[in-house]
Amino acid sequence: MSAESGRTASWHALATALRGGLLMPDDPDYETRRRVWNGAIDRRPPAIARCADADDVCAAVRFAAREHLPMSVRGGGHNVAGLAVRDRALMLDLGAMNRVEVDASSRVARVEGGALWRDVDAATQAHGLATTGGFVSTTGVGGYTLGGGVGWLMRRCGLAIDNLLEADVVLADGRSVVASQNQHADLFWGLRGGAGGLGVVTRFTCRLHPVHEVYAGAVFYPVEAARELLRAFRAFTPSAADGFTAMLAFTTAPPLPFLPVEAHGHRVVALAYCWSGDPEQGKRIAEPISARAEPLGRHEGAVPYAVWQQTFDPAAPPGHHYYWTTSQFDAFDDALIDALVPRAAGPVDPLCEVHVHHLGGAVARIANDATAFSHREAPFFINVIGHTAAAEGFAGIRDWARGLRTALAPHARKDMQPNFVGEAADLDAHAPGSDIRTKLAALRARYDPEGLLLPVRPG
Ligand SMILES: Cc1cc2nc3c(=O)[nH]c(=O)nc-3n(C[C@H](O)[C@H](O)[C@H](O)COP(=O)(O)OP(=O)(O)OC[C@H]3O[C@@H](n4cnc5c(N)ncnc54)[C@H](O)[C@@H]3O)c2cc1C
Repeated sequence: MSAESGRTASWHALATALRGGLLMPDDPDYETRRRVWNGAIDRRPPAIARCADADDVCAAVRFAAREHLPMSVRGGGHNVAGLAVRDRALMLDLGAMNRVEVDASSRVARVEGGALWRDVDAATQAHGLATTGGFVSTTGVGGYTLGGGVGWLMRRCGLAIDNLLEADVVLADGRSVVASQNQHADLFWGLRGGAGGLGVVTRFTCRLHPVHEVYAGAVFYPVEAARELLRAFRAFTPSAADGFTAMLAFTTAPPLPFLPVEAHGHRVVALAYCWSGDPEQGKRIAEPISARAEPLGRHEGAVPYAVWQQTFDPAAPPGHHYYWTTSQFDAFDDALIDALVPRAAGPVDPLCEVHVHHLGGAVARIANDATAFSHREAPFFINVIGHTAAAEGFAGIRDWARGLRTALAPHARKDMQPNFVGEAADLDAHAPGSDIRTKLAALRARYDPEGLLLPVRPG
């Protein structure tokens, strides 16, 4: 048998073993599944293993380990750097593994590794329960959780990783293990914020919290109010109640009925917030920020949490071209405001946004080294969202986002939240020489010595 026919035979054996099937480049579905949320990512894996269950994941990983073939895992496919797909790596597509089981009496959800947050919200909200998920409901639970997981509930309920009780993991050699505080505790530590690469998580077991309606909304202002709002944001958020999470977004006014027609298409600043405490209290909760300037329009009220979770989905359409940067800050002083405002107010494409976030609350009450997420003590972070509808504008939005990052750099910490990095090269998001970085490197060497699952491998 020639080397070529041997390779064909081994792909054929894998295809036969997988219940979910194997897509080769000439398969009609290959094109759809190789594509990820970010349309700027254009990579072609040699094959795509469509995993129907944990047994399929084991079969695909064993195959790759035998062949010394690198792998990438596609959870929700949302990663902006496109970590779910690589040119010379077998893609493990977990998209069909999206089942969610809820045990309402013990307030626990068991979530398969390819589920999206909207799958989880639908299942948990049926019981008046929820756990911290992403600001956009089409984000995958897998990558999001492995990178820490910030969202509207984080300051009350903690990060996604703070609610992770157990993970079912297929290791790089194909063995299945359970990681928790009591079993493979070192692996469990690294899965929580280490940004993947230690194994394929086939099931996340998460703690749930009672969450019914939230009081949430958005208040829009002319962009000229940005400085005043940023100062109010920095003054109020450190002492805000845990149930309150907000962001200030530089964006372009959409044609919404509660905004004056003259504002549509103009650059604005929006205060978006979510209060998951007593709804009556919610009516005034954002006032220390929202009352500091005259709004153009506002839309606020009590809504089911799952509805609020989907509010921003239309602003993040799949297939558009994106380039993100992210920076964290120990303080939000006036020099940072001066660096931010002119550039955020005038992007090259009106779809571009800048999001100013805060942490604190339950996130900051856990020790920084308790998990591999080493960014808990940063009170503020800023995401720069380069966004254009088509490939032609990509270089422009990338340069704008990079320019803004450079302008913020003198004020920023050295580390970055891994979930928001726009390039694989930034993924080692821990400060150089940090203990967490050293510990993660040792874990990777132990659980994946060949680096077959390493997300930062180029190509
Ligand atoms: C519109 C949008 C909104 C976002 N909002 C938030 C937010 O509010 N908060 C936040 O923290 N982040 C947010 N993110 C960032 C997001 O969490 C990360 O991009 C994350 O990587 C996406 O997870 P995914 O499963 O969809 O990604 P994928 O692209 O499928 O995977 C990303 C990485 O995770 C690995 N991975 C995925 N699933 C598994 C698994 N089951 N087992 C092992 N490895 C796996 C992949 O191999 C890859 O390295 C957002 C991203 C987008 C595009």
